[in-house]
Amino acid sequence: MKTMMVKTEQDQAVHCDRCGGLMVLERLSDLDIDGWRCVVCGDFVDPIILTHRRERPEAGC
Ligand SMILES: [Zn+2]
Repeated sequence: MKTMMVKTEQDQAVHCDRCGGLMVLERLSDLDIDGWRCVVCGDFVDPIILTHRRERPEAGC
């Protein structure tokens, strides 16, 4: 299976959990951290949130 040859750049792309939109790296000068902001819905995810999500995946509603 070699159908994904053109995906080199997208390998590093982050997509929004909510809408699947493209997320761009953005620096929060207030907190002095880097995070990801969705260009579609504006959702913001910082590395701390991502870490918590990994620890507790799909906890259910
Ligand atoms: Zn989004």
